[in-house]
Amino acid sequence: MKKRNTVLILGIFAFALMIIAQVIIIRRGWKQVDEMIYHRYRSLAQEANTSLRGSRSMVFDTVSYLLDYYTEDLMKELTQITDDQQLENKKSDIFDYFSTALNTEQDLSLYLSEYFANQDAENEFNHTIIITNLEILSEDTLVVYRDPEFRGRRTSRDSEGVEHSLKGSTSSILVTRPWLVGNNYAVNFDYYIDFTFKRSMILKELSASLGLSIFSIVIVVMIFLYTYRNLMEEQRLSELKTDFINNMTHELKTPLATITVAGKTLEIEKIRQDESKILDTAKLIGKQSIHLNQLINMILEISMWERTEFQLDKKKVDIEEIMNDIVTSFRTGCSDCASLMEKYTFNGAKADIDLVYFTTLINNLLSNAVKYCDKDPEISIEGIAGDNNISIKISDNGIGISKSDQKHVFDKFYRATSGNIHKYKGLGLGLYYVKKIATAHGGDVTVSSKPGKGSIFTVRIPF
Ligand code: ADP
Repeated sequence: MKKRNTVLILGIFAFALMIIAQVIIIRRGWKQVDEMIYHRYRSLAQEANTSLRGSRSMVFDTVSYLLDYYTEDLMKELTQITDDQQLENKKSDIFDYFSTALNTEQDLSLYLSEYFANQDAENEFNHTIIITNLEILSEDTLVVYRDPEFRGRRTSRDSEGVEHSLKGSTSSILVTRPWLVGNNYAVNFDYYIDFTFKRSMILKELSASLGLSIFSIVIVVMIFLYTYRNLMEEQRLSELKTDFINNMTHELKTPLATITVAGKTLEIEKIRQDESKILDTAKLIGKQSIHLNQLINMILEISMWERTEFQLDKKKVDIEEIMNDIVTSFRTGCSDCASLMEKYTFNGAKADIDLVYFTTLINNLLSNAVKYCDKDPEISIEGIAGDNNISIKISDNGIGISKSDQKHVFDKFYRATSGNIHKYKGLGLGLYYVKKIATAHGGDVTVSSKPGKGSIFTVRIPF
């Protein structure tokens, strides 16, 4: 348990470190690609801006016309304003109008988009126009808005171009700082482009390394889980083996102790003079020797199966007849230890089976049904012949098997963990033996059970 937890904790720790390392690497890569994209589009924007020089006015023709039209009416309105508050409100309206008009009616975005497309570059971007200075030109120039960092109407003009980005963001690039002068206004503004799809652009660039990184993480996790599972399985088997050795010692010692005591009894003069007592003791020795022999044979046989193929000596037999014989001898053998109810609808079906192994299979299931019962055992044995196989269902009213134990009862050495194991003696080999025999016949065996209610074992053999 301690070893298991140490391995698990170390594994999780190593895994966490690996994820952190990968995240750092990916973040660095992301930043590099981000910068690369920024520089690429910055220089593309610069080129586009330079190529526009001669025809710059064209891209702002529509908006200039619109603003001229708007400011013409505005002049009259402004002369009628007397109140300061009213003037401030009007300035705010003017600013909004200019901002909307510039953002929606310019053709620079279209030009840039085409330019980028011609250069095989990404041409889906958003633009942002930020007014830095807005004046209404009348006899007294009215400054509607002026950015505190604005450096003069003419000097700011288009000079630094693409050197800046919006609020230090690498996704927006300053393309140009135009200056538009109409009949009644002068406006300076910054035109930015913003690659909103930059995340997917970066992802595209990083896809190979991201894919490799995820793939390597998945592989490492799979290897870890596989190794961990093997380790757990090894530990489980080693625990099962230890249990088996304890159980085997216990199982073998009981008949041996009885035989030893019986032998000692026979040494007593008084006993030797009573013939009936000699006979009883001899019978006891005989019975215990047979039991001991059966146990040793089962262990030897199972260890032999590990090394050689399972050899069956099959014969075609009337299955109902065989079942009757097996159940009758079980009943006699255990001195009517249980109520056994039989119900067969085999319809004279004949199956190819190895009689010796098949008898052991049914006997093991019957003796378990008697053994794992804490009341008077009631066992029902049903047999049906289907289209391709015969099925034999053995139900009991015993202690039942929990869901988690049901998954393992057919494993070698497995004994259910719930309940008092020592109360029911065994080696954990009976059902393993049953499963081996059923599968060697091309069939299988399954269990369904409810703790406290009983169990049903179903054996299917093809015919
Ligand atoms: P063993 O009986 O020697 O322990 P088996 O392989 O025959 O080994 O059975 C494995 C385990 O399955 C048993 O330890 C027992 O807990 C459980 N089991 C088997 N048959 C029954 C049954 N009919 N009712 C309840 N539990 C059973």
